[in-house]
Amino acid sequence: MSKKNRIRLFSYEILYENVSYVPSDAQIHYLKNVMRLTSGDEVFLFDGQNGEFRSVVADISKKSLTLQVQKKVYDFEKSPDIWLVFAPLKKENTDIVLQKAVELGVSKIMPVQTEYATKIQVKRERAELQITEAAEQSRRQDVPELLKTVSFDEMIKQWPENRKLIYLNETGKGMVFSAVASELKEPVALLVGPEGGFSKKELEILEKLPYTLSVTLGKRILRAETAAIAALSCWQAFCGDWR
Ligand code: SAH
Repeated sequence: MSKKNRIRLFSYEILYENVSYVPSDAQIHYLKNVMRLTSGDEVFLFDGQNGEFRSVVADISKKSLTLQVQKKVYDFEKSPDIWLVFAPLKKENTDIVLQKAVELGVSKIMPVQTEYATKIQVKRERAELQITEAAEQSRRQDVPELLKTVSFDEMIKQWPENRKLIYLNETGKGMVFSAVASELKEPVALLVGPEGGFSKKELEILEKLPYTLSVTLGKRILRAETAAIAALSCWQAFCGDWR
């Protein structure tokens, strides 16, 4: 199998060379029934702590499957300390935001219920599956944590003040990324508003806080999911691991 379509799975257990790993039921279903692996086939496992290991299918029966972990192939590497804070969108668009945020290397994702956000809840199980799959596919060594959904007020109340909160301001009143890049060092978070935008009150609150920074993505109004992708890309290029 070429490197391109190698099978890569997150391990729910901490890995070492020469241990065996029993995949979750969903992973077993994927390996056996979707990928149709047989004894001796290769699977790459990463555990978010010790790194990535080559393993092979050892025992396989009608219902079960065990992987024999062999050599470590990559050391663990942490993603940059950038969080994405976003207002929940329609289901498919939330999926896009989660998936792209993982590909673009965020370390944590926090849904925030702003005044004009849709009342749609982020479904934890579905979201965590999306996040894990995106981490597997993008060859990250860690899986970002999905924090619990908070209200705008709660977010402000519990904000860790050493973490700069960069809010994407669609009103045009904001700095351009290239001008403030030096102020956006880790730890940092990007806050994207909902389709309805931020309310006047929210913008007033954000403006007054000492740890916030208003940033513009130009004069065109972007969809929330586009804004998240664009802002994360700018951050990676100016301040993150694309430099
Ligand atoms: N309904 C609003 C647009 C909201 S866009 C309006 O018509 O004005 C959704 C979110 O994407 C915004 O809250 C903001 O965080 C981000 N966004 C969209 N375009 C942007 C831009 N040009 N600059 C900065 N942020 C932007």
